[in-house]
Amino acid sequence: MEIKYKRILLKLSGEALAGERGFGLDYTVMRNVCKSIRDCAALGVQIGIVVGGGNFWRGRSSGAMDRTRADHIGMLATTMNALAVADVLEELGVTVRVQTAIAMQQFAEPYIRNRAVRHLEKGRVVIFGCGTGNPFFSTDTAASLRAAEIDADIIFKATMVDGVYDKDPNKFEDAKKYDHLTVSEVIGKNLKVMDSTAASMCRDNHIPLLVFNLNRPENIVDAVCGKTVGTLVEG
Ligand code: UDP
Repeated sequence: MEIKYKRILLKLSGEALAGERGFGLDYTVMRNVCKSIRDCAALGVQIGIVVGGGNFWRGRSSGAMDRTRADHIGMLATTMNALAVADVLEELGVTVRVQTAIAMQQFAEPYIRNRAVRHLEKGRVVIFGCGTGNPFFSTDTAASLRAAEIDADIIFKATMVDGVYDKDPNKFEDAKKYDHLTVSEVIGKNLKVMDSTAASMCRDNHIPLLVFNLNRPENIVDAVCGKTVGTLVEG
């Protein structure tokens, strides 16, 4: 099979790992997603993964707690997910390394860009935990940052809807799906694709982004092979 993207940065939100319960980890869902990641890796695609943490904790919805502290907890949540995804991938026979933006060397390697690239070149999947390592940022921003650093061809943002719509397709029957958008349109139309920091990073560094539905995990393989899947955001 011909592959279109040689190196991808896959953003998996916490929600994507939680399944229908919306909290914690759903191993059936995770196994299906990880099988697609394994199939992609088997095609020779180099895969970095940024995991979210919203299935355990979100700093911005933590009520009265000091935001910085709440975000520290959020970053720990992303690490829990990173370790869990690594475990499922390993169980499927995939070689994985977890790197965290905040050192916790008993659990994982610290994030070192050159080492991450070396792992990718050797065919290892690299999972990035702790987001950017800074409070007030999101894992979407971490995805755009890591994609820029590792020189990824594209960010794959796996979501629960099959692309970007002009309004919420769960609420409006006449919601229209976009096949193609520019980052400026995403920002200008205030489309809920990613936060503005992450969107600016993509625009400034010319990183394309493909938004697609993870409920059909095969979408990951279809997308790396260049099949039309989801919404492509470029430029
Ligand atoms: N977080 C952070 N800095 C980062 C990335 C994440 O402080 O660079 C914290 C923040 O509290 C965030 C939480 O980790 O709410 C989980 O990340 P996110 O909300 O992006 O996860 P997702 O919505 O993708 O599951």
